Amino acid sequence: MNIDILRELNDSQRVAVEYCDGASLVIAGAGSGKTRVLTYKIAWLLEQGMKPWQILALTFTNKAAREMKDRIGRLVGEEQARYLQMGTFHSVFARILRVEADKIGYNANFTIYDQTDARSLVKTIIKEMGLDDKVYKPSSVADRISLAKNHLLLPQAYQQSAWAADDATQKRPQVANIYIRYAERCRQANAMDFDDLLVQTWVLFEKNEEVRQKYVEKFGFVLVDEYQDTNYAQQSIVYQLTKERQKVCVVGDDAQSIYSFRGANIDNILNFQSQYNNAKLFKLEQNYRSTQLIVQAANSLIRRNERQIPKNVFSKNEHGEKLQLKPAYSDREEALIVTQDIKKLKRQDNCNWSDFAILYRTNSQSRSFEEQMRKDGIPYRIYGGLSFYQRKEIKDVIAYFRLIANPDDEEAFKRIINYPARGIGDTTVGKIIQTAQAYGVSLWRVIKDPVLFPMDVSKGTMTKIQNFRQLIEGWIERLQTEDAYTLGHDIIMNSGISKDIYSGRNPEDISRQENLEEFLGGIQDFVESRREEDMGDEVYLPDFLQEVALLTDLDSDDGDSNDKVVLMTVHAAKGLEFPTVFVVGLEENIFPSPMCTNSMRELEEERRLLYVAITRAEKHCILTCAQNRFRYGRMEYDTPSRFIRDIDPELLQVHSEAGGAGSFGAPQRKAYNRYDGGAYGTGTTGGYSRSSRYESEGPEWMQNPRPVATQFKADPKPRAVAPRQPEKPVNPFGANFKRVYNAVAPRPMASDPSASDLREGARIEHMRFGVGTVVRIEGTGENTKATVEFTNAGTKQLLLKFAKFKVI
Ligand code: ATP
Ligand code: MG
Repeated sequence: MNIDILRELNDSQRVAVEYCDGASLVIAGAGSGKTRVLTYKIAWLLEQGMKPWQILALTFTNKAAREMKDRIGRLVGEEQARYLQMGTFHSVFARILRVEADKIGYNANFTIYDQTDARSLVKTIIKEMGLDDKVYKPSSVADRISLAKNHLLLPQAYQQSAWAADDATQKRPQVANIYIRYAERCRQANAMDFDDLLVQTWVLFEKNEEVRQKYVEKFGFVLVDEYQDTNYAQQSIVYQLTKERQKVCVVGDDAQSIYSFRGANIDNILNFQSQYNNAKLFKLEQNYRSTQLIVQAANSLIRRNERQIPKNVFSKNEHGEKLQLKPAYSDREEALIVTQDIKKLKRQDNCNWSDFAILYRTNSQSRSFEEQMRKDGIPYRIYGGLSFYQRKEIKDVIAYFRLIANPDDEEAFKRIINYPARGIGDTTVGKIIQTAQAYGVSLWRVIKDPVLFPMDVSKGTMTKIQNFRQLIEGWIERLQTEDAYTLGHDIIMNSGISKDIYSGRNPEDISRQENLEEFLGGIQDFVESRREEDMGDEVYLPDFLQEVALLTDLDSDDGDSNDKVVLMTVHAAKGLEFPTVFVVGLEENIFPSPMCTNSMRELEEERRLLYVAITRAEKHCILTCAQNRFRYGRMEYDTPSRFIRDIDPELLQVHSEAGGAGSFGAPQRKAYNRYDGGAYGTGTTGGYSRSSRYESEGPEWMQNPRPVATQFKADPKPRAVAPRQPEKPVNPFGANFKRVYNAVAPRPMASDPSASDLREGARIEHMRFGVGTVVRIEGTGENTKATVEFTNAGTKQLLLKFAKFKVI
């Protein structure tokens, strides 16, 4: 078996996989098998006798973890693979924090604040402090706090740091105080934002040596993919877990470091070797993903960056075709070029829709492609738009769930205290917040104990507040006795949400109703899958909330056939591969992003981003740009991206205009005119014939980019912006949930026959929760439940019908 695994690797990969004596670092170019090395190393460790639950693998998305787990399952058997500890930093550490919450002063039922919650809290604080929100823009203050956290800069330390001095220079001296208040408020609300999931884990291990030791013992080997994009907090946690034994392997590519805005540092790869004294460095150079010409073209681009570790990436795959550059007249035409190409290539290569990816710099660029694909009947799938859980009606329901699971949750409280309307207005909410601040307690505490925390409100208002409190308390009592679906259903029915949403009959109302139903169906599916597949512990609302909070847009899966063209940002495409890749919108004001052209450092990161985009392609890589683009409500003239000129011209085939280069003939040309002509009404722009301007300027425009400032002399008639159709919501817990869940979730051990005559006081070993003692057994037959105190996982109730564990 061992031999077989290693045979699927080249020599350099094999050496990297086999080395397990100490810390190792694999630095290699795109497509050279870094992820493959990690995958096979895990399989190798299992073959060497390591237990799956001792292996911790951290990936960039949960989806990546799932795919890796699937692959390992195929190599060493599913039984082994299912117990591996895999996921993103956030999901793995959120689970640990639930277990250890009390050690850092939190309750185990803490809420995870998403970005909207975090910004809303920052905004509230800015307002309370009487600061000007034009100087203290909530989103930029929130970003600054987030960045500080990713550098493990806690509020008090921040105040004394160069960061605060820098804020003062920027005339925003209060940021440190906002940060301090923000941290206090999160604590009062028993809430952690996404960054806290890292910061608090680090604090936990830093302050509790015993706890750290426990996890050092638990994780015999730690592996990290995409190490170039980890930030200081993430690296520090990995170090806390591995510094003594040095059983750690990280893989990355400095040329693909694209997350510096979130605190990732390209130098972290280099620091690794100074952190771990005897770390071994492995390099891989053969790219297995792309054709030779794609690899060479990508190399020629990245060579323009000064800051990089030199590499010689080569491919022995087929020679292939050059990168194609297809300039378009307008954004609409660009979309048409792409869809025409997709149809043509699909016929030619006889491939699937899902073999095509359209990658763009920012999410808003997806619109024109969506429109065109809808017209052409091409199935597509957008990653990273407005996710299902960001929809208002879903967020409202989740806010109820959150408040019931954690009544101190301030953001949830504010969202639903008067939704559906129950006569508690903003003034009253303001008073509750003020009182809470005066006493340093949560909003919920204020309404729960009106005698202790008196407020100046009328008797009638107080009655309304108390009715709300009773409503919530009724559900809190049932939180640990009713499963997530039963309770969730009851909340939707009896909170007034159902009545509110089902009162309207217009298409928007109907879409909200459908979403709500899909959501409920999702909870039901979640509960059933967990019961069946999991360890038989009853599934409560907080379990569902935990899963929802940690889902990223990239993890969502809409459950129907996956044969669809994929649309996503380049950032989201990291690590993925597709036979055909379109990199669109290669213009000066888009790619590089105008926000990132101020320094060499930023520009180099944008160039790396394009390198990531091009290296996703296996066979065909097509770049497009539009000369005119409808943006910010008007038509804008744009020049091609400077990066196009960085690519070796020998490796780039420029289609001088969409109609040229043979691939887009006259009939299509006509189609463009008709198409755009319709949109503009006349087919002329700025007083001269558009097509003549187009034809005369195509090639010249490519060669001599004009300054962006020279826009249209005469304003073109603004075309109506087609409203974005509501997308079909993507519910990750939808029909496909079982498949997705089964792939990530750890599975039960073989059922032990003695489980049925389980006694109180028995010691058991449970695959997910570890060793524990049975403290109580209740119910009979099908409904027998055992309460077990686990050494590391706290107290759990197990439904014996499903529970699979070993008595020890
Ligand atoms: P990226 O930098 O984009 O994350 P990577 O270095 O992680 O890329 P992989 O995704 O592991 O590269 O590998 C790229 C492709 O090449 C995959 O399809 C992988 O299965 C294939 N591949 C890698 N090594 C080999 C090999 N030795 N034999 C056959 N195929 C390989
Ligand atoms: Mg990879």
